Amino acid sequence: MRVLEPLIELARGLWTTLRMMFEKPVTVQYPEQKKPVMPRFRGRHILHRYENGLEKCIGCSLCAAACPADAIFVESSENTDEKRFSPGERYASTYEINMLRCIYCGFCEDACPTEAITLGDQYELSFTDRRQAIYPKEMLIEPVPTGGQPTPQKTEPGVYTRSVPEMKDPKD
Ligand code: SF4
Ligand code: SF4
Repeated sequence: MRVLEPLIELARGLWTTLRMMFEKPVTVQYPEQKKPVMPRFRGRHILHRYENGLEKCIGCSLCAAACPADAIFVESSENTDEKRFSPGERYASTYEINMLRCIYCGFCEDACPTEAITLGDQYELSFTDRRQAIYPKEMLIEPVPTGGQPTPQKTEPGVYTRSVPEMKDPKD
């Protein structure tokens, strides 16, 4: 009986291999195939625009103040109606996130008064140099929506006086 034991175990192992050959594979052929992320996944940040192309970020630095990892650097400048980037007085002339510091906690998202920054579904972040890990505004801001204008825009005086829009039902 003891002689048969290894053969039985071998047969069980082979049976498992044979059975798995006919099951649906669970592996994903990344990077050709990408698995969709969960709805509340927090990936690389996106800076948003309004439908007309103006930037939602008003350079207030609340996200930088809320960031526990000191990963965000914001420098603001004045808007004018001749050269307007965002509604209200100021816009972010420099906006940088150090992705090596970020812990993807989402505090920046929560702190933002204009819903300008969200953490998206982009998870492919790789660098070969520490400086490459600092993502500037140009990399973070979303493209101009269809029908919108790129920034800076020339706008009518007295139209964009509010930095923070009236929000009846702010998103979670
Ligand atoms: S997700 Fe958290 S750590 Fe990353 S930039 Fe935002 S507040 Fe900072
Ligand atoms: S992303 Fe939001 S919180 Fe951060 S500077 Fe811009 S408006 Fe302020």
